[in-house]
Parts: sequence; C-alpha cells; structure tokens
Amino acid sequence: GTKKRPLPKPKWMKETIPGGAKYAAIKAKLRELKLHTVCEEARCPNMGECWSGGETGTATATIMILGDTCTRGCRFCNVKTSRTPPPPDPNEPSNVARAIASWGLDYVVITSVDRDDLPDQGSGHFAETVQTLKILKPTMLIEALVPDFRGDPSCVEKVAKSGLDVFAHNIETVEELQSVVRDYRANFKQSLDVLKIAKEYAPEGTLTKTSIMLGCGETPDQVISTMEKVRAAGVDVMTFGQYMRPSKRHMPVSEYVTPEAFEKYRSLGMEMGFRYVASGPMVRSSYKAGEFYIKAMIE
Ligand code: SF4
Ligand code: SF4
Repeated sequence: GTKKRPLPKPKWMKETIPGGAKYAAIKAKLRELKLHTVCEEARCPNMGECWSGGETGTATATIMILGDTCTRGCRFCNVKTSRTPPPPDPNEPSNVARAIASWGLDYVVITSVDRDDLPDQGSGHFAETVQTLKILKPTMLIEALVPDFRGDPSCVEKVAKSGLDVFAHNIETVEELQSVVRDYRANFKQSLDVLKIAKEYAPEGTLTKTSIMLGCGETPDQVISTMEKVRAAGVDVMTFGQYMRPSKRHMPVSEYVTPEAFEKYRSLGMEMGFRYVASGPMVRSSYKAGEFYIKAMIE
C-alpha cells in the first residue's frame, strides 16, 4: 500500500515562550520541593500562561501521583505501561500535599496513571492527598483528574467527597471512537457514569469536568452529539484540544483542527449551558484551569 506521510504542523500550533513574574517565582521555588509536575515533564507550551495565573492571577499547575507507570495503554498516550507497577508510596499523599501547600500555587490539578492493579484503583490515595492539602491550605483550589476506577461507584464517591473543587475525568474522544483511541477497559458509558456519580455525591457547588482531543478522526456532528450527551450528564465544564502524536508508534493525527472550528465548539458549548469551555489548538484539559474557574464562578 501507499505510505501515508504525517500531516505538516500548521502555523497556529506554535509554542509560546514562558514568562511573567509569578512564573519565575513558582519555577524557582519548585527546585527546593521534590515535586514532579506534568507541566515540566511534558514540556507543556502553556507553562508561562498557566503558572503566571493570567488576568485573575490564579496560578495553575498539574502534578501526578501514584507513580509513572500505567496499567493501561491508550493509543495516544506516551506514559510507561506495566501490568504490575510498583506499589504506591504510602507517604506520598502527605509529602505531596505539603509540597503543593508551600509552593505558591492557587489551583492545582492532581492526576494519575490508571491503577487497575490496586483494590481501590488508587481512589483512597487521591482522597487522602486532597484532604491533607485542604487541611494545610484551605484556600487552595483543587481539581482531581481521575481515572474511571473501572466505574466502581465507591471509588468515585470517595474522591467526590474528599473536599475537592472540581472533579474531572476525561472521555478523551467522541462516543464513536472510544475503542479506537482508548484502552479496551475504557468506554463512553462508563466514563459518563463516573461523571454522573461524582455529581451526585459531591457537595453542592463542586464542578464536574471532562475533555476531548480533536484530530483523532471524529466528525463535527460526532463532536456535537458527544457534547450534548456530556451536558445531559450534568457535566459543568468541557475542554477541547488538538491531539498531538507523541511518536510514530502512536495513533496518527487525522487533521489539524482550525482555531475557527475550536472557537465554534467553544461558543456552542457555552450556549448548551456549560459553566465554561476551553477550546483551542494548544488547550490541554488543565489549561489555565484556575483562571477559567475563577471567571466562571464570579459570573
Ligand atoms: Fe495514558 Fe491515562 Fe491511558 Fe494510562 S489510562 S495510558 S495514563 S491516557
Ligand atoms: Fe501544566 Fe496543564 Fe497548564 Fe500545561 S496546560 S502548563 S500541563 S497546567
């Protein structure tokens, strides 16, 4: 057959240079703390914007707990995988909470690999980290970006009641492409159910949030019907970003979605009643999450 060449990167996929006084201070302080941020490890181009906190001065960063080895293998993801990752560090929740509390952040996204090997799927570890951090620094806004916990309601409940501000779980792609993009253990219904259960158990005012990547082969109609189903599940926040292939072993990019198309999904989402929608070529689910959160909550 004919070999398909990878699509050239369009001009709007340019990387921005980090900057800002708050960015510099946060970066300097990070060196003292033994904290690993996804922002740095993924060399995220949004670091300058997220860490400086934008118009509201709400500095956002993402940190990973439960190790660096995932029990799943999604087609878009570059994380190391194993059926038997090392056991979690029991001191991690308190160590990480202490480091984040002293760091100078305003909004933290705590995320993890999937831990199908653990009896509680890692949910207890998440809840403990959130609880400890809220005790140490009650003003800190906390988003937990969690795995599907295989749909186990007790795991979802534990995290939803931990004191977090935003419960996030990513559906990653449109309903029709779930099995193409995600691990075989993940699916649309299970993920939507996780978000519904979280909404049910979390205290009033807690937001639920999900994200999808575009450029995986989806059609605009599929994006719109997926948005409708997500909104019907009571999800408050949705984000849209461009899929970028981490290496040749990963799923190819089907297209580079234009900034105009991203903007259409954003305004459509706002019309549907989402509290906020972040949508753009460089958007990741945690993109300026603190700034967007503050703006959505004062409206
Ligand atoms: Fe990557 Fe998450 Fe999939 Fe694991 S479950 S392979 S960390 S996207
Ligand atoms: Fe960090 Fe997410 Fe912002 Fe990137 S988009 S800098 S990973 S918080």
